[in-house]
Amino acid sequence: MGLFKPIWMTDKRTKRDKAIEAVTKETNPDKLKEIALNAPLREVAHAAVERVSDQAILIDIARQTSSTSVGEKVIQAIVDEQALFNLAMPGGALSKKVQAAAISKVRDRDMLLQFMEAHREDFRLRHETGHRMLGEAVQFAYARIERPTFEWSMLVNSKASDENLLQDVKEMSYPEDREALCLVARKKDNDAAALAVSMFPYETDAKFLRHVALVGFNTARLAALKKLRAPEDSDLAKRVWENHLLDLEVRKQALKLVQDDDPLLDTPNCCPYCGGVGTVHRNTYYSGGADTYFHGYECSECKKSGYIPMWAGDPKDFGVTLRELRDL
Ligand SMILES: [Zn+2]
Repeated sequence: MGLFKPIWMTDKRTKRDKAIEAVTKETNPDKLKEIALNAPLREVAHAAVERVSDQAILIDIARQTSSTSVGEKVIQAIVDEQALFNLAMPGGALSKKVQAAAISKVRDRDMLLQFMEAHREDFRLRHETGHRMLGEAVQFAYARIERPTFEWSMLVNSKASDENLLQDVKEMSYPEDREALCLVARKKDNDAAALAVSMFPYETDAKFLRHVALVGFNTARLAALKKLRAPEDSDLAKRVWENHLLDLEVRKQALKLVQDDDPLLDTPNCCPYCGGVGTVHRNTYYSGGADTYFHGYECSECKKSGYIPMWAGDPKDFGVTLRELRDL
């Protein structure tokens, strides 16, 4: 037993060429399928796949193989879109990588949507082992569809989904689509979110605009702050301004809602580069190499500084008042 094993069963690389030669003489499709599925050497299995022209047998191999390279090779040879779709669906092919390779050849919109639906969980978990491949395949499927559903555009984060959402929002109206507009405004940080926010009237939905101004993403916050009013929202605006983690552009927009006679606006030595409050200070140091004293100003927050040698005169102070900063 085992003495006269067929050559294709070898796992010795030295016998590889001989094994491939034997496979190229094989004509029985079932035998070729057996070789493709079981040959220990990848090149031998590939040679068997190349010999198969019967689509049904190719599909069988794709379904049963656990080898990624054999699977991808056999997928290349399958032309029927319905068969590729079936392989990509759960339970279609044994290997998730083969499922992903199969869907990459499908162009039919309904099939792509069905595939995405079936692998929604893989997409959500795409960073976890074993799911990543199908998660990415869902992302690629999404990119291939013209005008995907709103729901999927919300799930996917990509340039394509940003553009699709913007188009969706342009076609929405307030208050009919308020729920969808709320979703975009709360969950996204893109042009679609800014447009969605801008569609909420202050008169009827100030509460939502305030909510977005406080907890939304940057683009949505900025759009919401543009819709808020002084003095009604001045206190809220101050809270946004104080949040140093936010973009300076957002914080400056909040500052515009602070009332003109508020003493806060007269705070001096504020930094126009990082929005630091009272952080620009005079600074003096001595450079041994140049044997010169320097003085200048430095922001203690972002470290932006300006120095000139003492003999050259007074340095320019780049600090501003908050009133000046909000108009910069
Ligand atoms: Zn600064």
